[in-house]
Amino acid sequence: MTAAQQLPGAAERRHPHRAPPTDPKRTVDVVVVGGGHAGVEAALAAARMGSCVVLVTMRADRIGEMSCNPAIGGVAKGQLAREVDALGGAMGLAIDRTGIQFRMLNTAKGFAVQGPRAQADRHRYRDEVTRMVLDAPGLTVRESAVERLLVEHNADRVRVVGVALAGGDELRASAVVITTGTFLRAIMHTGESQTAGGRVGEDSTGGISADLVRLGLELGRLKTGTPPRLSREGIDWDRLEAQPGDPAPLPFSFRTPLLGFPGLPQVPCFITYTDSASHDLVRANIHRAPMYAGRIQGVGPRYCPSVEDKVMRFPERDRHQLFLEPEGLDTDVIYVNGLSTSLPTDVQDALLAKVPGLERARILRHGYAVEYDFCQPAQLDPTLHVLRAPGLFLAGQINGTSGYEEAAAQGLLAGANAALWARGDGPFVLGRDEAYAGVLVDDLTSLAPTEPYRMFTSRAEYRLLLRQDDVDRRLVRRAAAIGLTDAAAVRRVEGREAQLGAAGALLAKLRPDFAGGRTLLEWLRRPESTVVAALALCPQLAALDLPRDLVVTLEADVKYAGYVQRARLDVERQRRQESTEIPTEFDYTGVGGLGNEAREKLGKLRPRTLGAAGRIAGVNPPDVALLAIHVERARRRG
Ligand SMILES: Cc1cc2nc3c(=O)[nH]c(=O)nc-3n(C[C@H](O)[C@H](O)[C@H](O)COP(=O)(O)OP(=O)(O)OC[C@H]3O[C@@H](n4cnc5c(N)ncnc54)[C@H](O)[C@@H]3O)c2cc1C
Repeated sequence: MTAAQQLPGAAERRHPHRAPPTDPKRTVDVVVVGGGHAGVEAALAAARMGSCVVLVTMRADRIGEMSCNPAIGGVAKGQLAREVDALGGAMGLAIDRTGIQFRMLNTAKGFAVQGPRAQADRHRYRDEVTRMVLDAPGLTVRESAVERLLVEHNADRVRVVGVALAGGDELRASAVVITTGTFLRAIMHTGESQTAGGRVGEDSTGGISADLVRLGLELGRLKTGTPPRLSREGIDWDRLEAQPGDPAPLPFSFRTPLLGFPGLPQVPCFITYTDSASHDLVRANIHRAPMYAGRIQGVGPRYCPSVEDKVMRFPERDRHQLFLEPEGLDTDVIYVNGLSTSLPTDVQDALLAKVPGLERARILRHGYAVEYDFCQPAQLDPTLHVLRAPGLFLAGQINGTSGYEEAAAQGLLAGANAALWARGDGPFVLGRDEAYAGVLVDDLTSLAPTEPYRMFTSRAEYRLLLRQDDVDRRLVRRAAAIGLTDAAAVRRVEGREAQLGAAGALLAKLRPDFAGGRTLLEWLRRPESTVVAALALCPQLAALDLPRDLVVTLEADVKYAGYVQRARLDVERQRRQESTEIPTEFDYTGVGGLGNEAREKLGKLRPRTLGAAGRIAGVNPPDVALLAIHVERARRRG
């Protein structure tokens, strides 16, 4: 185990990794339920690690389906997608092969908050992911609905040993990973109409929910929504603002060759806005919106609100931005990003007719909301193993998250841990200073989110250490150690590190004329200097022929060196604090300056260490700092 794994979250709540008892009736090592982003990464990860895996999904023709927006990445989400790639996953390669617009977001801001985003050709993306799944050795796809979990009771212990399929077949496995997304007891809403289903054209499933409840798990209701899809014809493109991709984009995957990237023709997106007339229409019809009429109980995503939520929650705003995103190269379907809604169809028609440029647009499919069960993820350990049901892992939207990248990252970690469990090996847990995936799992399993959880850079206290450009340096060796990636991936990272090392040595040595007596490294530390400029001015540096992506990493390394050093010291301090024990009878009333909520919760929950104290909701970093001083005093007093 690395020291990083002992960071907040991982150490205290680690599930004792017992080897599963050998089951003579076992058919496979790992069964994964669901062929969405979580399920695909889970199944592929377990298969890469040598497990015999069956992926059971309701529709084999929808493996890797993008239920909502045809895009991968974004700020923080792009980091997650690159982490999935560095851990050997499918998402990065799939989007690189099927992307029709690539952009790096936030380039005007610091390196830590930049994130790659790509528009996908939706059908090509799904086909590419399906091909990867079908080609994977050790992985079989079974098209069926899972109706029940197979559970064995032994004295007072319970264990999940497989799944029962529609039609009666049973699949027994050492580990089961459930990734059923928005499908559990799902209801779709458009205005007054309600239909059962987790996504247009697909059923809802209920048996798994009932079995989770029987296992004693707490479920809740969440909701999400999707916007209308338009036909390309009828949109007045000339009146809209075009938004092209980057002129020389970089791929998501460390395995995609820069030469020849991107492979598909690139297309622009377009921007328009709602206005006060469309907002008036929404307000006049708000009583017909399922959320406002009380027909939806589930909590919606705060950070991806429906247009009715935006209008009602931000009455001071007189317009909201809408992005028109093509769903592919060979389709006329246009996705209206920003206009998620479950208003009745007649209101959606009237609303679109008021948006500049869309007055004559034809709706191909109206927007809708879906309400579904999720499982409170505080009931999982940091390997996404259900604490009270050994053998059962949960990943993706079922854990209360929203988004493909959050689902994929959890899926990969759950699949890897299911494979480890199946063979009786120890857990694979990423620290909060190693990966956004580590932050994600730690937040989910310790914070008990009550609304759909989406990743942001602000959730990562060590985001300076979690840049998108050098994810491979952090994760590839970790992944290789458990068989998630191969020796070729490690050699690639080592090659890149050697190139960076050579460049760094040159920067420290050269004193070119333009640097005015300083080394090139000192010159580059000035905010206005760039590696690109240095390459143009300094033939020796240019002779290293650094690939474009390493130019970014070199620059970020130079500019961030001081901050990174400080962040690492912080990590060290946190790690020490994590394991500092609080005496059992510690008197919290004697700690002056503690917030009331913090004092009350600490007194009630009596955490064992300062690390555990810091993870209690309502106990803030200043509270922990105060506590640390008093605990140290108590220790000295003996
Ligand atoms: C209408 C809608 C709107 C959305 N809007 C947004 C948004 O605005 N922003 C955002 O970030 N995310 C949004 N999402 C969420 C996004 O689609 C998910 O976060 C992501 O797809 C979750 O991935 P997943 O793998 O967990 O589940 P999913 O992609 O939902 O995949 C679940 C899989 O499980 C299978 N399955 C379900 N039950 C069974 C069963 N009993 N047996 C066998 N197979 C089963 C399904 O067939 C499917 O393959 C939306 C989703 C929907 C449906």
